[in-house]
Amino acid sequence: MSNYKPVTEEVLQELRAAVGAEYVYNDVEKLNQYKTDEETDVRFHHLPEVVVAPANTEEVAKVVRIANKYLVPLTPRSAGTSVSCGAIPVCGGIVLLLERMNRILEVNEDAMYMVVEAGARTVEIQELANSKGYLYAGDPCSSDSCLIGGNIATNAGGNKAVRYGTTRDQVYEIEVVTPTGDIVNLGARLKKKSTGYCLEQLVIGSEGTLGIITKATLKLMPLAPYKLDILAIFTDLNKAIDIVPVLIKAGLNPTSVEFMANEFVRSASDYCELKLPHYEDGHYVIITIETFNEDELERKMEQLDELCNANGATDVLEADDRVWKIRRNCLESTRVLSLVNSSDDMVVPVEKIATTIEHLTEVAKDYPFTVFTLAHAGDGNLHFTMLKGNMSDEQWENELERFHAEAYPYIYSQGGRLSGEHGIGAKKLASMEKYTDPVEMKMMRAVKKALDPNNILNPGKIFNMN
Ligand SMILES: Cc1cc2nc3c(=O)[nH]c(=O)nc-3n(C[C@H](O)[C@H](O)[C@H](O)COP(=O)(O)OP(=O)(O)OC[C@H]3O[C@@H](n4cnc5c(N)ncnc54)[C@H](O)[C@@H]3O)c2cc1C
Repeated sequence: MSNYKPVTEEVLQELRAAVGAEYVYNDVEKLNQYKTDEETDVRFHHLPEVVVAPANTEEVAKVVRIANKYLVPLTPRSAGTSVSCGAIPVCGGIVLLLERMNRILEVNEDAMYMVVEAGARTVEIQELANSKGYLYAGDPCSSDSCLIGGNIATNAGGNKAVRYGTTRDQVYEIEVVTPTGDIVNLGARLKKKSTGYCLEQLVIGSEGTLGIITKATLKLMPLAPYKLDILAIFTDLNKAIDIVPVLIKAGLNPTSVEFMANEFVRSASDYCELKLPHYEDGHYVIITIETFNEDELERKMEQLDELCNANGATDVLEADDRVWKIRRNCLESTRVLSLVNSSDDMVVPVEKIATTIEHLTEVAKDYPFTVFTLAHAGDGNLHFTMLKGNMSDEQWENELERFHAEAYPYIYSQGGRLSGEHGIGAKKLASMEKYTDPVEMKMMRAVKKALDPNNILNPGKIFNMN
C-alpha cells in the first residue's frame, strides 16, 4: 500500500478532462462528506483526496485508467449505507460516485428482466417492477436509500432472501469496469450456463475490490397476488426463536421470517412513534406468506396460526405496513440511543439460528453493553447491535474485542461465517484474516493480484495484500 502516490494537480487535470471539471470535487466540504459511510465512529473515518462523479461507463473506465497510471487508490461508492466501512476510502485517493448513472434502461415484460444502470435506487427498481405486476426480489432494509450497484457489490440480503435468495440470485448479467480499466459484460441472460468460470458471481459480493459494476440485467418474477403479513408475538425469547426452524420445516415457503428481540421492538417503535401490541415485553416474529391462489393463502394462514400457538406465541396477529416500518428502522433507532454502536452481522446454518441466538444472548450478559438482537431468521442471519453509550473508547474497544473473541469462534464452530450480508469491509478485515482458512486467503489474494496488479480498487477491504 505504501506505493500509492498522492493526487497531484496533474492527476486532477486528467480527471477533469475525463469526467468534466464540474464533476471533480476537492473542496473540504465535499471531501468531508465522503470520509465515512454509515460508520459513526470517527476512528474509522478517512478523507479522500478527490471525489469524482462520472456520467457513464466510459468515463468510469477513464478514471480507473488514470488511477492505475498514477498509482492512486480508488473506492467506488453508491449510497454509502455500508455498515462495514466498505465505502470509506481507507487509503485516501479517489472516491468514485455512481449516483449520476441512475437510469432504468429497459423493462422487458415478456422475457421478465430489467436493465438498469448501477446508480439506480433499489426502491425505484422494486416499485417499477411492482407497478407492472412483477417482483424484483432483492429487498435490503435500506432499499429506500441504497443503490443497486451497492447491493450487487455486497451481495445484499434482506427481507425476502429466505424465499428468493440474496442479490446474487437476482442478477443475470453485469457490465463491469475491471480494476485496470477495461469494460466487460459478465454473465448472460440464461437460465443455465456451463461455459467457463462464473466470473459475474466472483465480482458480485466482492465489495468493489474486483471491478466497478456499471450496469446490470436483473431477473423479474411474477408478483404473487395474495399476500399476508403475520406478526407472531412471544414473551419468551427462546420460544420466539425456536419457532423459526418449525416454520421452515412446515413447508410454508414464507417470503420473510424476521425476528426482533424486545429491545429492538421498543427502540424502533419509539423511533417510528408507533406502538403495536406487547411493545413492552414482546419479541416479534414477522412472517410473510405470498401465494398465487387465495385458498392456498388461507390454508397456510391457518397452519401458521396453529404452529405459532402450539409453540408458545402470546398473540398471533394479521400485520400491516406499520410492522415493516418498525422493522426497517431498527438500525436507525439505535443511533438515537447511542451515536456509536456496533452492528454485527453473522450467519449460521438455518437450523442453528435458534441455539446460536440463545447462546450468544447468554454470553452477552457478561458484557457492559446492552445487546439488541435482530435476525433475518429464515436465512440464519443474525445481527447483534451493541451500544457504546458512555463507555470510553478504550473500554468499548476492549469489550467489543472480548465479545468477538467469544462470539466468532462459536459462530465458526457451528459452521457459520463472519458476515451473511453486510460484507467484511474494513471493519472485519482483521477477523477475516484470523478466522479464514489460510489457503482460502491465499486463493483470494491470488485472484485480486491477477485482476488488480496495482491494488487500485478499494484497497484495505476484505483483506490486505501482504
Ligand atoms: C438502515 C440500514 C439497513 C440495512 N439493511 C440491510 C439489509 O437488510 N440487508 C443487507 O444486505 N444490507 C443492509 N444494510 C447495509 C447496506 O445497505 C447494504 O450493504 C447495501 O447493499 C449497500 O448499498 P449502497 O448503495 O449504500 O452501497 P455503498 O455503501 O456505497 O457501498 C457498499 C460497498 O460496495 C462497493 N460498491 C458500491 N457501489 C459499487 C459498484 N457500482 N461497483 C463496485 N463496488 C461498489 C463500495 O465500495 C462498498 O465496498 C443496511 C444498512 C442500513 C444503514
